[in-house]
Amino acid sequence: MAARHPKRLCNPHRRFTMPDAKPDRVGFIGLGIMGRPMALNLRRAGYELAVHARRPESMEPLAEAGASTWASPAQLARHADLIFTMVSDTADVEQVILGPDGVLEGAAPGAVVVDMSSISAAASRAIAGCLAERGIAMLDAPVSGGEIGAIEGTLSIMVGGEAPAFDRVRPLFEVLGRNIVHVGGSGAGQVCKSCNQVVVGATIAGVAEAILLARAAGVDPARVREALLGGFAASRILEVHGQRMIDDQFAPGFKARLHQKDMRIVGEVAHDLGLGLPGAAACTQYLNALVGRGLGELDSAAIYKVLEAMNSGHPTGGDE
Ligand code: NAP
Repeated sequence: MAARHPKRLCNPHRRFTMPDAKPDRVGFIGLGIMGRPMALNLRRAGYELAVHARRPESMEPLAEAGASTWASPAQLARHADLIFTMVSDTADVEQVILGPDGVLEGAAPGAVVVDMSSISAAASRAIAGCLAERGIAMLDAPVSGGEIGAIEGTLSIMVGGEAPAFDRVRPLFEVLGRNIVHVGGSGAGQVCKSCNQVVVGATIAGVAEAILLARAAGVDPARVREALLGGFAASRILEVHGQRMIDDQFAPGFKARLHQKDMRIVGEVAHDLGLGLPGAAACTQYLNALVGRGLGELDSAAIYKVLEAMNSGHPTGGDE
């Protein structure tokens, strides 16, 4: 009877190795305070990078670092497999992805769109649905950690979407951030970001009140901050935003008009779910007043200025 196994024995220790897949080409749209350093970090990590920004001058530092520049999101999408967006608000993401000359017009089936802007979860799910019809996956992946986190590649990244897309993009998330959490399905990352902004907003307002109280009582707020940083009141907000309030330095950082936008999104979700979130509502009112005073381009730590103005009649309060 003929032997069933081949005469020429193969090396049993030899392991199958997948031929190197063609590395993903990366596209990045939106090169503002956050997007520019994030895109630069991806380029520095060795990824082939294509960029698009509304204003050509925003693309210059990326072009100098070796990125190709494209006049529209559609053109960029023709040259990228993983397409990141980091623009301002819900309508901007819709325009950049679904609008004329948008990503959807250029992206090929199999591409993944990664929206890292902070926008409405419901809109994000709807955009993901439009992309899915063309065989394109989408992750919502908003971030926390601010400009410093974007520059240092230490962002916290909150991801919603399907696991295979998350697994494919994960190595790039690891370039951009340190704490990367796959929160759940489509939109879950944006819901997580809203939770983040509730905590951040309420904390900024609390820190502002503490610093005003210290000043009004004639106690050095810098020493108060130092003491509080060693106890239960310690937070990154007390550390960073508290220092900005003490120094009266409100260059952004995180622009108040963007924080107002995030609190608008929180308010919409609370409205739709029938939830009362009084802390979030108070923070929204501070931001409404700040932006209404024409100060929306300042860092959202400038909530302190609104609180100071509210108390300007106090004998030991700030001047208006
Ligand atoms: P930013 O500095 O204002 O940058 C936004 C960028 O998006 C700008 O370059 C802008 O282009 C571009 N853009 C906006 N709408 C666009 C459109 N319709 N088409 C094309 N480009 C458009 O804002 P950012 O601070 O980087 O924030 C970006 C996103 O990250 C926001 O959703 C924000 O809430 C979120 N975020 C920010 C921080 C922070 O600390 N800054 C932290 C976490 C999350 P132009 O320059 O031409 O206007």
